[in-house]
Amino acid sequence: MFILWLLKLGIKNIKAKVIRIESKDYYVRTDEGEITRCSLRGRYKKEYELKKNKQSVLDIVCVGDIVDFEKSGDDAGVITNIYERNNFISRKAPKIKGATFRGERLEQIIAANIDYFFIVSSFDEPRFNNRVIDRFLVVAESSNLKPIIIINKIDLDEDNDIVEWVKIYKKIGYNVIKTSVETGYNINKLVKLVKGKTSIFWGMSGVGKSSLLNKIYPQLDLRVGEVSDSNNKGRHTTVSVKMLCMEDETYLIDTPGIREIDPYGIKKEDLGHYFAEFYPHHLECRFNTCTHNHEPGCEIEKKVEEGIISPYRFESYLNILHTIEDDMLF
Ligand code: GDP
Ligand code: ZN
Repeated sequence: MFILWLLKLGIKNIKAKVIRIESKDYYVRTDEGEITRCSLRGRYKKEYELKKNKQSVLDIVCVGDIVDFEKSGDDAGVITNIYERNNFISRKAPKIKGATFRGERLEQIIAANIDYFFIVSSFDEPRFNNRVIDRFLVVAESSNLKPIIIINKIDLDEDNDIVEWVKIYKKIGYNVIKTSVETGYNINKLVKLVKGKTSIFWGMSGVGKSSLLNKIYPQLDLRVGEVSDSNNKGRHTTVSVKMLCMEDETYLIDTPGIREIDPYGIKKEDLGHYFAEFYPHHLECRFNTCTHNHEPGCEIEKKVEEGIISPYRFESYLNILHTIEDDMLF
């Protein structure tokens, strides 16, 4: 009897990936490319309420989640199981009604099961901004995501001024790829990297994310040069996250409307852990809770003075540290 029930369950449950969420509708895609609109089973709704009451998550399912669903009609279904995530990217939800609990901002999960987190920047127009990159690197390191730094619009760098920045990030161990949509430089490298993987492209407005995606997959035909969303910093409870599914099982996550994120749940004393080059030295600080901010016997500050740690990276670190200090919600 039990085996029969198991068999039946096996047939009924279809594994799929969540590719889009619209209000209470979850669009899931099977490996064969079939898309079904699903709702959430009651048990999950209850679980969600429970979690929310413990002031943690805003949503229980996110784009990129792997789920099982049962068909409930020709093109409708019910999600019956959510698999554990390999990783996920989240932020503090905007401080608005519906996204807070007792005045505290909930954790808003943006996407899950990501192979590559492309941090997209540009050499110029907008000007190269190392602080933004460092902030995203903290997000990547704290969320178990593999970051790859793209410096686009390299055609504008006639004198190879970017070389010093590339050195800084390569020395720490990050993969840095200079690209140009204009000349096609290194686009092939990106094509090879994203193939068969799930990637998210993130960066400030105007750095060329849509242009890069269009260059990689011309059939995408994304709109280029739209800057309006930069004024739209998270005034909505729902984030607009889209997963673009290519025929070769390549998934690209586009996040129009979110250009910056407040990392969720990073404590002051942990921030240094997310600066990869601090890691070998932080145990040498006199205090094990050292935040590397003028404490006596700080080894990190010493390494900056000795030129072993980049002063720009240290500056970014202090900057982020101060935003944590200012914000009691961390
Ligand atoms: P997004 O906001 O990050 O998606 O940026 P877009 O893809 O919309 O591009 C913003 C602007 O930068 C557009 O005018 C593009 O034509 C331009 N652009 C994109 N890539 C390059 C590049 O490699 N070189 C130069 N010179 N301009 C670029
Ligand atoms: Zn220290």
